[in-house]
Amino acid sequence: MKIIAIGRNYADHAKELNNELPDKPVLFLMPDTCVLKNNKPFYHPSFSNDIHHEIEIVLKVCKEGKFIAEKFAHKYYEEIGLGVDFTARDVQAAQKAKGLPWEIAKAFDNAAPVSEFIAKTAFEDLKKLNFSLLVNNQLKQSGNSSQMLHSFEQIISYASQYFTLKKGDLIFTGTPAGVGKVNIGDTLKGYLDGKELLNFEIK
Ligand code: ZN
Repeated sequence: MKIIAIGRNYADHAKELNNELPDKPVLFLMPDTCVLKNNKPFYHPSFSNDIHHEIEIVLKVCKEGKFIAEKFAHKYYEEIGLGVDFTARDVQAAQKAKGLPWEIAKAFDNAAPVSEFIAKTAFEDLKKLNFSLLVNNQLKQSGNSSQMLHSFEQIISYASQYFTLKKGDLIFTGTPAGVGKVNIGDTLKGYLDGKELLNFEIK
């Protein structure tokens, strides 16, 4: 499996990093070695002094597809969950300054903790999903899927023009404002529509 992730999908987060708002989704990929499951601890890597949390709603792809039209995109995911797109911001800034790819800042081992997945039918309105991240029980990030610049369906349709979606692939749909550094000893908790789905430690 692979992870498809979208950058700058919430205007308030793009602004806090002084990024321009994109007219098309900004996509990047992560390999399966990024996945960290079951609320296992995240071991802080030694190559960065500025690992940031980015809480995101994650879609789980349920069937293979390519060139998916937006109006059919909803058929390609049945379950959603939460993930953290850990980002070595110092490494990313250095790469961006040189115009180099981001992988070493975004796609390192265990960079993508994910929660259990829940049937999308369990949620009242996918276009109004609240989600949040608490660090040591303090609210750091909160967002609502209504604030996305590109909808779940638009992301699926756009991504599938370039990458065949396969069953089990995950799509990270972007983070709202409030990203910040994590430290060894922190506890991160993630909530989707009031349900605690993530609860793990930085070691
Ligand atoms: Zn992200």
